Amino acid sequence: MGETIIPLADLRYAAAVPRVPAGAPAPNGLVADRLGRPLHDLRISVTDRCNFRCSYCMPKEVFDRDYRFLPQSSLLSFEEIRRVAGLFVAHGVSKLRLTGGEPLLRKHLEVLVAQLAQLRTVDGRPLDITLTTNGSLLERKAQALRDAGLKRITVSLDALDDAIFRRMNDVDFPVADVLRGVDAALAAGLAPVKLNMVVKRGTNEQEIVPLARYVRERYGPRVVLRFIEYMDVGATNGWRMDEVLPSDDVRKVLQREFALEPLDASAPGETAERWRYADGGGEVGFISSVTKAFCSDCNRARLSTEGKLFLCLFASRGHDLRALLRGQRPDGSAWSDADIAAAIGLLWSERDDRYSELRGAGQAAALSGSHGERRVEMHYIGG
Ligand code: SAM
Ligand code: SF4
Ligand code: SF4
Repeated sequence: MGETIIPLADLRYAAAVPRVPAGAPAPNGLVADRLGRPLHDLRISVTDRCNFRCSYCMPKEVFDRDYRFLPQSSLLSFEEIRRVAGLFVAHGVSKLRLTGGEPLLRKHLEVLVAQLAQLRTVDGRPLDITLTTNGSLLERKAQALRDAGLKRITVSLDALDDAIFRRMNDVDFPVADVLRGVDAALAAGLAPVKLNMVVKRGTNEQEIVPLARYVRERYGPRVVLRFIEYMDVGATNGWRMDEVLPSDDVRKVLQREFALEPLDASAPGETAERWRYADGGGEVGFISSVTKAFCSDCNRARLSTEGKLFLCLFASRGHDLRALLRGQRPDGSAWSDADIAAAIGLLWSERDDRYSELRGAGQAAALSGSHGERRVEMHYIGG
């Protein structure tokens, strides 16, 4: 077995203050990056804290009592998040995903959802607003989130077996509470619910079929189970390729039990390959970020809890939008929406990230740490 090396140093990331170009045209919803990819999806991390310690994301050895989470003063306020989100919408974003850390730990999150629900796309449509959660607080919060304007929800669920689930969250949290959260989400009208299972070879692959069966029998098409390949994100989880169970293998395991048929992608930039049960029992998805890179149409930007913009999940450098939100022009006046929108447009138009494709081509080692910097952690940027 290879040795897991866990860096214990501070985990903050480098971030430059973005350049504000003079005389940039107003955003028209059509910005594209250097590879021609539009900007459609903004993932907003609302906290870097979590009540779980999933070993693939926040291993206890690193995220212990001494770990310094971000202080309250450095988090973007709801007003700041709404303002930045509005500027991204002006550039073409139509989908917002709230994430974390555990987003339901952020107090009064439904107030933020209600503010974001007021935004309209460039062609006047309401936004698609969703949230990814570990489900631990969902039973209590589902209705308030739905009432505030949340449309859909994704719940992470790595096992149905209670012992395996408790081991994977590493805080002894019972699976039954999360399952009640899923029921509550459906009862509140958050549908379809997506369930994300990170499959780690040697840890939870025996849960693939039981979880699929549970979802089919209890919920049918109202819940979509998606299998995620364990990713080499961040620098603390001791990732090893031999712990990745490729999606094709997961699908073969399922196909021994159930007849599946492929479906077309529902939208450009869709991360999951979609399949359905031939008997109409619902849909499953496979997110194969390790074995089948989907960088070529990646239209996602990520905003950290403290307002840093990351253009790729595997980036090591962010762009400090908070410095513009809270800072001043050289003449002492505040940066305007037009200024900040111009800075965002410039950043996106210069983007050329495609880490997973390069990893697939065997070039990732050359990329990671190329500036001697640590890649961003999942709990900080949300996934
Ligand atoms: N705490 C929330 C949750 O777990 O749903 C939201 C944040 S979590 C970082 C977002 C998603 O990232 C979860 O579905 C989680 O399973 C996934 N994730 C975290 N680390 C991962 C890794 N190394 N590989 C694949 N997925 C990962
Ligand atoms: Fe927390 Fe989500 Fe990371 Fe698990 S995956 S430690 S629940 S942020
Ligand atoms: Fe997008 Fe980066 Fe993931 Fe490729 S590796 S799909 S560019 S986030």
